[in-house]
Amino acid sequence: MIIVLKSDRSEEQVHKFIDMLTERYDVTVNTWVGTHSTVLGLIGDTAAVDGEYIAAQDIVESVKRVQEPYKKANRKFHPDNTVIELPTGQKIGDGTLTLIAGPCSVESEEQICEVAARVKASGASFLRGGAFKPRTSPYAFQGLKAEGLELLKEARRETGLPIVTEIMSTSHLDLFEDVDVIQVGARNMQNFELLKALGHTDKPILLKRGLANTIEELLMSAEYIMAGGNERVILCERGIRTYETFTRNTLDISAVPILKKLSHLPVVVDPSHASGINWLVEPLAVAAAAVGADGLIIEVHNDPTRALCDGAQSLTPDQFDALAKKVRAVSETVKSL
Ligand code: PEP
Ligand code: MN
Repeated sequence: MIIVLKSDRSEEQVHKFIDMLTERYDVTVNTWVGTHSTVLGLIGDTAAVDGEYIAAQDIVESVKRVQEPYKKANRKFHPDNTVIELPTGQKIGDGTLTLIAGPCSVESEEQICEVAARVKASGASFLRGGAFKPRTSPYAFQGLKAEGLELLKEARRETGLPIVTEIMSTSHLDLFEDVDVIQVGARNMQNFELLKALGHTDKPILLKRGLANTIEELLMSAEYIMAGGNERVILCERGIRTYETFTRNTLDISAVPILKKLSHLPVVVDPSHASGINWLVEPLAVAAAAVGADGLIIEVHNDPTRALCDGAQSLTPDQFDALAKKVRAVSETVKSL
């Protein structure tokens, strides 16, 4: 349930009103204060709340029932866009196109540091790189694990780029203490125990859409993290399984404006995993920039032919440089229309 308060209400009236709601009903109250209005989002047993009684209160402008099962992730609870900002100043969701780039997996100090320097020079503001890799085959390279995390930190020391890396298990949480943004991969989008544990951290979480999950399921997974108190979630469209076999997945480009409409959380697009094909990454990135994505996460390798993981979809640093120029131009042009 959403309660919009009148603009001339005092702080004290708001506090008293919230106290009344939580004493009378089995609900928690999510407060959003905008420049022109204050919105209270009620979560819990709202069926018991008498809408007419609430609407009759002095400070109440309007009352609406929210049908959607996601509440904290719902734009109705938080009309403004959420902007995720790191202590070092990098932002996602502030209206500019944020570039996150780096290899699929961290392979060596030389590799990660070289790629980090190159993508930074092209305008990336975050470095990606997998240390724990969710591979389809148990015989494929599984990542450098803890050593990979140390190499990412070394690349961060050298370039200043914050790091984005995937967690696969709650048992690794301690290792991720010094990671800037924790990624939940497509295969773990509904690992509810992992989502709940991440809800108790204070790290931004980049949550990828599952291979066969709906937009609403993605938002419910974001809700799991937010329900635990961590509201810094970044949604990622990375392609879904369809009957098409030409591409690795099918990029659901419509998910971007839909997610932006339904939710206030930032939305980034991963054209690398969506396509699986080097030459398709740029046109899909351009499309994502044109439909209003807040950012792109792109795989870049200094020597894609020798990559230990996802070489076929990895761009060279030069290709990433060309892509970065194009998507920035598209994003600026669309915004100016
Ligand atoms: C990745 O980012 O390298 C990855 C494994 O992505 P996804 O979970 O989207 O497949
Ligand atoms: Mn990959």
